[in-house]
Amino acid sequence: AQGGLGGMGGLMSIGRSKARRYDTQAAGRVTFDDVAGIDDAKNELVEIVDFLKSPAKYTRLGGVAPKGVLLIGAPGTGKTLLAKAVAGEAAVPFFSMSAAEFVEMIVGVGAARVRDLFKQAREQAPAIIFIDEIDAIGRARGPVAIGGASEQEQTLQQILTEMDGFTGREGIIVLAATNQPDVLDRALLRPGRFDRRVVVNLPDKVGREAILKVHTRNVPLAADAAIPELAASTPGFSGADLKNLVNEAALLAARRGESEVHGKDFHDALEKIVLGPERPLLLSREDRERIAYHESGHALVAYSLPNTDPVHKVSIIPRGLAALGYMMQRPEGDRYLMTQAALESRIQVLLPCTLAEELLFDDDCAGAQ
Ligand code: ADP
Repeated sequence: AQGGLGGMGGLMSIGRSKARRYDTQAAGRVTFDDVAGIDDAKNELVEIVDFLKSPAKYTRLGGVAPKGVLLIGAPGTGKTLLAKAVAGEAAVPFFSMSAAEFVEMIVGVGAARVRDLFKQAREQAPAIIFIDEIDAIGRARGPVAIGGASEQEQTLQQILTEMDGFTGREGIIVLAATNQPDVLDRALLRPGRFDRRVVVNLPDKVGREAILKVHTRNVPLAADAAIPELAASTPGFSGADLKNLVNEAALLAARRGESEVHGKDFHDALEKIVLGPERPLLLSREDRERIAYHESGHALVAYSLPNTDPVHKVSIIPRGLAALGYMMQRPEGDRYLMTQAALESRIQVLLPCTLAEELLFDDDCAGAQ
């Protein structure tokens, strides 16, 4: 179709939105069943789904439809997944673009792309527009920029103009994601724009178990693969981290020629993710002995102190960039508070490696720093 324009074809298409459109009516679409462990966020979005399905129900009494929802959470917590699931549940088209793509663009292109994106969505409404990493363009504007509005600013302005133009009857809802809500321009958060905020937290132990279940749906698990135990030993893991863990374990089991994924595969995958891959380092007998005492120092103290997680494993197999050996503790649950006593215990666990080396070798080595 661009033939007639000759060389202009390429140029003319710059303004076209690079938005990706997902067919949310097809089988295999993402639904709320695929989202686990972040029930609070999910519950807050149920209303949005309902609204997309039957807008009249909400506007009947003169209420104004929500226009924008800001999803706030760390990377990998499932913000994109949630947005897709909202579209999937409502069976409406899903248009997505990453704001980061605009940062280095020729002036004017970003705004044109935004215009095009909203136009496409309007033509197929009801629909969801998802803008990932909105902080990349939505940062609070400083004092007047030298040389006029930057590309970022123009792009942001265009998003705001489009949203202000909604009457609320179009059936378009804009979901945007960020992990830095504090840097956002206040203009974005004004009523009628992204006035709803949904926080997507890292999952707790129960949540991690639910997420692991979602991602092991199609993975043959051996009887000794204890999902609850795995959930307990992965505090701080996001949904994306857990997905990665399951994948690593499945690959490892396949490489080992197993027909099911075993607990050991999960444990090895976890160690690899947390500490890095095993390193084929040839250490002398003396070095290994020293490392053994060093790690045993940690382990003994961790074992005998209150306020510390149980000792899970002590190893003198080098891993990752720095560890020549390691002592792993396995958390029994999530901790939201750190007490003075627990912090002191943690320091006490860190110190005895030097002591162990001093006691046995009369000197300690730089590794214990
Ligand atoms: P974000 O947008 O917050 O950075 P994503 O939605 O892109 O995170 O997450 C990446 C992938 O990790 C998802 O496609 C999904 O497979 C998995 N994932 C993340 N969070 C969850 C969750 N809460 N439940 C199930 N899977 C999840």
